Amino acid sequence: MPAVTVEDLTIIDRVPTVNLDASVERPVKGVTTAPAGFEGEGFPVRRAFAGVTLADLDPFVHMDQMGEIEYSPGEPRGTAWHPHRGFETVTYLIDGTFLHQDSHGGGGVIANGGTQWMTAGSGILHIETPPEELVVKGGLFHGVQLWVNLPPKDKWLSPAYQNLEGDMVALVASADAGSLLRVIAGDIAGHKGPGSTHSPMTLVHATINSDSEVNLPWDPSFNALVYVLAGSGSVGADEVPVRTGQLAAFGPGEWLSVRGSTQRVDASETLEVLIMGGQPIGAPVVQYGPFVMNTRAEIEQAMADYQSGKLGVVPPGALQPFRV
Ligand code: MN
Repeated sequence: MPAVTVEDLTIIDRVPTVNLDASVERPVKGVTTAPAGFEGEGFPVRRAFAGVTLADLDPFVHMDQMGEIEYSPGEPRGTAWHPHRGFETVTYLIDGTFLHQDSHGGGGVIANGGTQWMTAGSGILHIETPPEELVVKGGLFHGVQLWVNLPPKDKWLSPAYQNLEGDMVALVASADAGSLLRVIAGDIAGHKGPGSTHSPMTLVHATINSDSEVNLPWDPSFNALVYVLAGSGSVGADEVPVRTGQLAAFGPGEWLSVRGSTQRVDASETLEVLIMGGQPIGAPVVQYGPFVMNTRAEIEQAMADYQSGKLGVVPPGALQPFRV
């Protein structure tokens, strides 16, 4: 159950009803299923964008879903200290807690619907790790990390981060008041999310109840993706079925549709999706490990700069992974 919820969806603002006859619905281009993998020190992830073309993802590069998992005591894992250059890591924690610290003086707690929007820019070292009490006791953990590319000129910005707490997201209901849209970045029907971005994009976490349909106006210049965090339902005019760990990429148009499943065993089960997309940056992308640049030479430079400490150094007395 996501930390940020609204008891009564009829009392918050709603997305205006789409004029179905006067506008073009985006078709579903394809649905992919995320393979399972492990990240960092061995926490389970789903590689949400595997098998999707960069053209359909742009300005996004990569996304891991972490959990949803109920950890046993001693199981929770994060990452060791590691570098990034050339893009932004957006870490959204639906349930559970991550501590983070970086070589640029930043640090804090990401928890309960909060997002850390970190601009790696010219280079940073950081760590993301569960706190001692979560490692000791275990517990529920569910989040995503989305990699947002930076336009070529912004790859050399100084590192920065935005700490977006759960209560900062803009809350909007679907036109039928059956679904909750949490706007983290961008704009839905005039409701602006708190995230500041370097190119135009929208990032929404939607909770879609049984029998609700979300018809969402979507900037025609943006790519459009729907990733299923949990549950099942359907997307697009052809009602293409989707379930946990699947990603739908949409073609061009003015709005998109996502529906909750009508065949649930438990009527209170929701469809949890990320709806996201932005204006393509359109520059070449060369990704290698933790670096996202425009040329092979820039990757080689990033590796050399990391080796020589130019991306930062681990501060004295730094946060380290906790082990029982
Ligand atoms: Mn990282």
